Amino acid sequence: MRIGFVGLGTMGGPMAERLLEAGHDLCVHNRTRERETPLAERGARRAASPRDAASGADVLVTMVSDTPDMEQVLFGDGGAAAGLAAGSVLVDMSTISPRATRSMAERLAEAGVAMLDAPVSGGSEGARQGTLSIMVGGDAGTLERVRPLLDVLGSTVTHVGPSGSGQVVKAMNQVIIAGTYAAVAEGLALGLAAGVDVEAAHRAVSGGAAGSWVLTHRAQNMIQNTYPLGFRVRLHRKDLGIALESAREAGVPLPIAAYVEQLETGLVTRGHGDEDVSAIARAVREAAGLG
Ligand code: NAP
Repeated sequence: MRIGFVGLGTMGGPMAERLLEAGHDLCVHNRTRERETPLAERGARRAASPRDAASGADVLVTMVSDTPDMEQVLFGDGGAAAGLAAGSVLVDMSTISPRATRSMAERLAEAGVAMLDAPVSGGSEGARQGTLSIMVGGDAGTLERVRPLLDVLGSTVTHVGPSGSGQVVKAMNQVIIAGTYAAVAEGLALGLAAGVDVEAAHRAVSGGAAGSWVLTHRAQNMIQNTYPLGFRVRLHRKDLGIALESAREAGVPLPIAAYVEQLETGLVTRGHGDEDVSAIARAVREAAGLG
């Protein structure tokens, strides 16, 4: 299977590497071209544009930041839509708007190109280890065609409904983790302010009902008050924006997600937008006078 891959960032870089290691014929493109070098050194071909990465590909995978970026990659100058042949499949693994996804899928369908929305959860660790959780919207038969490829990237690949559904489920995921990050940060702030041995407290609560991925993998960041990437605050804020917009359309109040989005807005304004999302604890710690 010939695969094109566009977007070699924190997530896309290691995902493309896994596909290469699994023996796929891979052609990569990244806006900042230097990021292609490590993959080219391991045998990937390089493409000068998204259109060139799409040309001749059976499947094009995209992993870029936000909805306008995906629109640019698909329909902008040198955009992938101009290179995708009828019968090929676009698998967009970025987290973007469900509504925009449906409109992109409709435009591509006119040219005989199928699109799956396949956003992921599991962080940069999951991208490196191939243990992502992948939530797929679009035609179920198309998913079966590309499932062997997605199995290289994720340990859970779930078809969740028609076009755009993968993005809705990803929004649900981001709403759930928003509350979890905020609650773990509050619990740790309480322990720190009250003077308990917070490392021991972490061990004590991790195995019980309060256990979570966030507590296991990100509490150390919150305790040390240092937030290496990971997943950027500004990207999680973008995801909560998508969730809040979908919720408004559906008439669903999401007070916890709205609160966390406000904390993140403050973090971005104060220059912390490129820290890991566990930096929500920075805001919680500051409010508790912990610095
Ligand atoms: P990242 O490290 O910031 O990388 C973003 C990638 O998108 C880079 O390759 C960037 O190119 C490219 N890009 C952005 N705007 C573009 C544009 N207008 N045209 C062309 N390329 C563009 O982000 P990431 O952490 O890999 O996240 C990628 C996606 O996965 C996002 O939608 C994010 O929400 C989602 N996600 C991330 C995580 C995580 O833990 N990091 C987990 C799950 C899902 P340059 O190198 O030129 O900037």
